[in-house]
Amino acid sequence: MSKNKNGGFFMKKRTIAALAGAGALTAANAVRAAMFVPEKKDWGTVEDEKINVDKALEHISGAIQIKTISNPDKSKVDFKEFEKFHKFLEESYPLIHKTMKKEVVNEASLMYYWKGTNPDLEPMAMLSHQDVVPIEEGTEDDWTHPAFSGYNDGEFIWGRGALDMKNHLICVMEAVETLLEEGFQPERDVYLCFGQDEEVVASEESGARSMMEIFRQRGIHLDSIVDEGGAVLDLDIPGVIKGKKLIGVGIAEKGYTDVKISVHSNGGHSSQPPKHSAIGKIADVVKDLENHQFKSELMPFVSELFSGIGRNCTYPARLITCNIPFMKPLIKQIMKQIPPAACLVRTTTAVTMTEGSPAANVLAQNANITVNFRQMPGTTVADLEKHIRKVVRNKNISIEILKQKEASKFSPTDSRPFRVMEKICKQQNPDSFVAPYLVMGGTDACYYEPVCENIYRYSPFNVTVEELRCTHNTNERLPIKTVEEAITFFMRWVRRASSQEDA
Ligand SMILES: [Zn+2]
Repeated sequence: MSKNKNGGFFMKKRTIAALAGAGALTAANAVRAAMFVPEKKDWGTVEDEKINVDKALEHISGAIQIKTISNPDKSKVDFKEFEKFHKFLEESYPLIHKTMKKEVVNEASLMYYWKGTNPDLEPMAMLSHQDVVPIEEGTEDDWTHPAFSGYNDGEFIWGRGALDMKNHLICVMEAVETLLEEGFQPERDVYLCFGQDEEVVASEESGARSMMEIFRQRGIHLDSIVDEGGAVLDLDIPGVIKGKKLIGVGIAEKGYTDVKISVHSNGGHSSQPPKHSAIGKIADVVKDLENHQFKSELMPFVSELFSGIGRNCTYPARLITCNIPFMKPLIKQIMKQIPPAACLVRTTTAVTMTEGSPAANVLAQNANITVNFRQMPGTTVADLEKHIRKVVRNKNISIEILKQKEASKFSPTDSRPFRVMEKICKQQNPDSFVAPYLVMGGTDACYYEPVCENIYRYSPFNVTVEELRCTHNTNERLPIKTVEEAITFFMRWVRRASSQEDA
C-alpha cells in the first residue's frame, strides 16, 4: 500500500518535473529557433553592368553548334571542330584577341593572358573547358531540338554544352570583352584557360595539366581560380523554405579511381564444374566490397550546408532545424542510407563491370570486376588498395589500377577571393546563402593545385534541379533568363578579384 502511495507521490512529482522540463525545453527550443537565422550583414549595393544579352545568346547558340567532342582516344577527336571553335571565338571577341596574348597548348587548349597594371600582385585565372561529351547513339531523336542546334526557343538554348559548359565559357568571354569595351584594366594579370579534354576523366596528358605546367615553369603562382561546379538553385518547399536561393561553391572535389580485381581458376569444360567457379569467387569479392563500405564522416562543410539551409527555413520548420547542430550523429546515420547523400559523407564503391568466360559451355579461367571508387578528400588511391585487401576475404586476388585521380584538397573559405565571391553573390541575390560544398564529379581545376590554393568551382547560372539533370543527357538546355546574371557575376568577379578589394 504505502509503496503504491509513495510510488503515486513520486510519480506525481516526476510528472511535474518532466512537464516543467519539457516546458523549459520547448521554451528554450522556441528561443533557439527564433535566433537560428542567417547572420545579418549589410553587403552594400552596386551599379548594374551594361550587357548586350542578345549578342551573348547568339554566341552561346553559335558555340553549341560546333561539335567539340572529346574522346579518350585522341586519334578519334575531330580537331577541325576545335579549330572552327577557335575561329569562332576570334570573330566573336575581337577586343580580347587584340588585347590579350593567346597561346594554343597541346593540340587545342587555349590560354589567354591579359596584362595587369600591378606586377606585384599574383595573377588570377578563370577556367572553362571547350569540349563536350558525345550524344549517346540511338538517343539523337529523343531531343526536343537537335543536340547541336543551339536552338533558342525564347526560353531555353538547347544543345550539348548548354550547361556543361559552353554557357560558362561564352559568358566569361562576354564579360571580358565588355570590360575591354569599357576600357577596364585589371590590377592583376588575368588568365583565361580553356581546356580541350576535361570530359576525358583522369587524363594523364590533359590540356589543363599542360597549362598548369606552363604556370609552374614560368614560376607563376595564382591568387584565385574559378571553374565550373556549383550553381544557383531555388529553394522552395511549401511550409519549410520559401523564396531562398542556395549558391553552391565547390571548394573540393572527390577523387576518381577505376580498379580491376581478378580471380583465377582452373577453367575447363562446363560439364564438370567445380564447387565454385571463378565467377562464384568473384561474386564473393563483390559481396565483400558492397558489405564493407568506407567509413562515413560528416565533414564540416556538410554541417555548414545543413545549418545554412536550416537557418533560412520558416519559423515552424526552424523549431526542428535549429537542433541540427546537435543532431550530427543522426544526420550521418540517415545520410549513409540515401545514395545521393551517402556520396557526401564517404568514399563510394560502385562495382560497374564484370567479365568471365567467353562462352556458355566454358568455365572461366579468369573472372574480373571493375570497381569505380570516388574518394573523399583525405583518402588516397593507396588507401583504396589497402581497403580492398582488408575487406575481401579471398587473399588470392589481383588488383590493377586502371585509372586514377586523387581527390583534391579543400580550398579555404576564409580567403579574400572567397569573401569577394560571397559578397558578389549576396549583392546579386540578397535572399541567397552561399554554401561551400564538395563537387562529386571532376573538374579541370584540380590539376591547378600545385599553383593555386584558392580554387572555387562555381557556375553563376540559376537553374533548376531538373535542368541540371540534363547535363551529359538528352535535352541539355540553358534557361536564357539566367545569362545576364552570369555575365554580371563574371564582370564583377574580374573587376574585384583582380583588385586588392576585400569584402
Ligand atoms: Zn564540365
